[in-house]
Amino acid sequence: MILTGATVVASLDPLRVVEADLHVADGRVAREGGGARRDCSGCLVVPGNTCAHTHLYSALARGMPYRLEPPESFLQILQRVWWRLDRALDEEGVRASALVGGMEALLAGTTTLVDHHASPSAIDGSLDVIEEALASLGVRCVLCYETSDRDGPERAQAGVAENRRFAERVRREQPALARALIGAHASFTLSDETLAACADAASALDLGLHVHAAEDAVDERDAVALHGRRVASRLAEAGALDERTLLAHGVHLDDDEIALVGETGAWLAHNARSNMNNAIGRARLDALGRRVALGTDGIGSDMFEESRAAYFRLREDGGGEGPDWPLQRLAQGSRLAASVFGEPQLGALEPGAPADLAVLDYAAPAPLHEGSFPGHWVFGLSSRTVRDVMVAGEWVVLDRRLTRADEQELAAAARIQAGRLWERLDAIGQHEFEPRGERR
Ligand SMILES: [Zn+2]
Repeated sequence: MILTGATVVASLDPLRVVEADLHVADGRVAREGGGARRDCSGCLVVPGNTCAHTHLYSALARGMPYRLEPPESFLQILQRVWWRLDRALDEEGVRASALVGGMEALLAGTTTLVDHHASPSAIDGSLDVIEEALASLGVRCVLCYETSDRDGPERAQAGVAENRRFAERVRREQPALARALIGAHASFTLSDETLAACADAASALDLGLHVHAAEDAVDERDAVALHGRRVASRLAEAGALDERTLLAHGVHLDDDEIALVGETGAWLAHNARSNMNNAIGRARLDALGRRVALGTDGIGSDMFEESRAAYFRLREDGGGEGPDWPLQRLAQGSRLAASVFGEPQLGALEPGAPADLAVLDYAAPAPLHEGSFPGHWVFGLSSRTVRDVMVAGEWVVLDRRLTRADEQELAAAARIQAGRLWERLDAIGQHEFEPRGERR
């Protein structure tokens, strides 16, 4: 395969833009080769984006009617929205949400999803369902189950078991597009025993823990009240904080915790739009450093939109970051995926790298070169420009259509499942779980 006539963004950080045909052979970017030609004249070819933290199951919640008292805090958002929704999910709902979420990701040029899944009424096998759905579309993914004690010790154990089972299967079978992390919800819904079981699983399988950390102040208050230490030090104490760990949010990490996260070299997924939507505060991006990647926390998988929103939110704080900031953050997301896949070149379009890319049909209204590309990213480019998408050398989107599935059919099936889910939700009240630290 040869992609001809395009401007190729070979790397986002350091930024490298070249005018050259792009060769693809055996699923990878190649130095040369023949085969079918795809005319990309006037287009940009960019590395496929990674969404470093999402919840595919939330796809069926879009526009969901709301019949309880409106939540007034982050905890109430969980008790009255997400912890009701996840208990109502069954296997068909999990499958439909993964298919429609994967579809939206590919059409937006996002080729890798790092998902954090919860379906407490259908835990066993749920990660297989998601993996199979995403594989059918050609989405690269890193999956885990968000273990939690909020639904009782049996489901906590089932969560750990699902993580272990899936991670062992992935290790054994090495599917082309899927890898595992060990998932846990957040410190404030994890007993010491459950956190230790997650840390044991991560250590035994040589994987990182993917966990919400200090998303809201409630997480820190609970950790201090019950465990006498803040969230990051509780994770570190449990042996669950190292360079493989993926922390989501980190909004309320204090100076000592930020230093600890920095020392361990853990990843941090920043979810600007979700943080704004939940009014939980702002992560200390200035202090958190370069291991920060971007996630959507379930608000779709459009990383053009997410990176732009994160950038403007940051600019408002007056730190003076330039438009290369969102590109560096997206590159970190790819590095995270690269480390999990053991594919160091993932996220670059250089010989030997997995061929995960998007072709953008973009009529640049101003000169486009290495120096100006960041400005085009922030002020002009969007997922609307995504024409074709390739994952591991296979076209999964051509001329704005999925190659392996029909979008209308997937969306129609998802709407049916969403309707059923919303009906089941009516019978489920506010979640009764209260952080133990909050009750004292
Ligand atoms: Zn999340």
